[in-house]
Amino acid sequence: MGTPLSDSSLLAPLLEVCRRPVIVVGSGIFGSVVAERLAADAGRDVIVLEKRSHVGGNSYSETDPETGIEVHRYGSHIFHTKSEKVFAYISRFARLNAYRHKVLTTSSGRVYAMPISLMTINAFFGKNLRPSEVDAFLADSTEKYRAAEPANLEEKAVSLIGEDLYRAFIRGYTAKQWGRDPKELPAEIITRLPVRHNYNTDYFNDPYQGIPLEGYGKLFEKLLDHPKIHTFLNTDYFDVRDVIPDSAEIVWTGMADRLLDYKYGHLEWRSLRFEWERFDVEDRQGTAVMNYADEDVPWTRIHEFKHYHPERPAFTSGKTVLCKEFPAAWKPGDEAYYPINNGRNRKLYEKYADEIARRPGWHLGGRLGAYQYWDMDKAIEKALELYESAFRP
Ligand code: FAD
Ligand code: UDP
Repeated sequence: MGTPLSDSSLLAPLLEVCRRPVIVVGSGIFGSVVAERLAADAGRDVIVLEKRSHVGGNSYSETDPETGIEVHRYGSHIFHTKSEKVFAYISRFARLNAYRHKVLTTSSGRVYAMPISLMTINAFFGKNLRPSEVDAFLADSTEKYRAAEPANLEEKAVSLIGEDLYRAFIRGYTAKQWGRDPKELPAEIITRLPVRHNYNTDYFNDPYQGIPLEGYGKLFEKLLDHPKIHTFLNTDYFDVRDVIPDSAEIVWTGMADRLLDYKYGHLEWRSLRFEWERFDVEDRQGTAVMNYADEDVPWTRIHEFKHYHPERPAFTSGKTVLCKEFPAAWKPGDEAYYPINNGRNRKLYEKYADEIARRPGWHLGGRLGAYQYWDMDKAIEKALELYESAFRP
């Protein structure tokens, strides 16, 4: 990337020399992909405004200077997709390593494989079931909710895995994660996780998976490395909007309600808090992610980042970095991580989205702008779609 600028007084003179600039607000994966396509494919001048001190949004990673370990600043990010188009696109900017995501979970002091597979079921019940025996074994405890369409996350989970596994692995984790009873949450949240009746313990089903060999920071540098892209860090759109001409086209990946000064009220989110620690040992927990299923443990998971890069020298360096993830209530001004996709918020969001869509030259996108719980591949797919429908010459 050309050196990013932090001096926003340079924005006004730059805008004067740009022809038909597009302002991209936010340099997460959505904004960076749109910026790359606009500059490289459409030949447009692009100005990226990023309020943080780095590009990459929540997918950002960097090398910890003390240990040489690549750390994901906003929680573990594993690239995974089924989409050949998305994989082909991202492969132009990053080679992925061979990492395939596996997660373990601790429940009542014992460690099991997550998501729920035959490995989990047999270990939990002390059985040696075959795949064909699982349905019959769980039938008594799943049947209560199997007939009707599940009304909430609890009913959906119990219909898939039964009461005992639900109580051991899902109820406590979900209540901590979302700060509410799983009966008050939509069923689709749990369908992110596969349930398997075999010994496949992969977290994702996707064929394409891995971590960028050079880290996410480098991936974003490459996406934004174009003479027509000018990136401003530490620059909040609201601090510079007066110098942006009314005629400029704007791709908005920030929060939709903030853009309209919260005139209809606040959209609600769930937040997170991260606690970091370094240790002078080679391997502290033996795996990249350990979940904690019990409700009385305040964190949901612990990340040990070196396990994402077994190919790097830091893997055997005798030092490690871990990060505990604590779910947190959200209030305006806090970092927004997960949308609370209930009826109230969806209706409110539609009001904001409709009004922004009527502003000539404005395009709403990204997980904040779309108020969506998207993985990176979905954000890339949506960014490519926006480019193709709104900008491609
Ligand atoms: P973001 O990454 O949030 O980027 C938005 C950017 O806009 C930010 O940099 C923000 O600072 C900037 N911005 C906002 N408002 C303004 C403003 N007013 N002015 C200037 N800049 C502004 N996905 C996966 O595929 N795999 C995973 O393993 C995975 N793990 C995750 C773990 C956690 C804990 C979370 C919360 C998400 C995870 N995701 C994962 C999802 C992933 O983070 C998102 O798909 C991705 O961040 C979406 O990118 P984005 O560009 O839409 O948004
Ligand atoms: N979940 C759970 N136990 C686990 C892991 C996940 O109950 O050990 C539930 C929880 O409700 C969570 C959802 O499954 O919100 C989706 O999990 P995922 O790991 O996809 O969440 P993310 O990584 O996006 O936070």
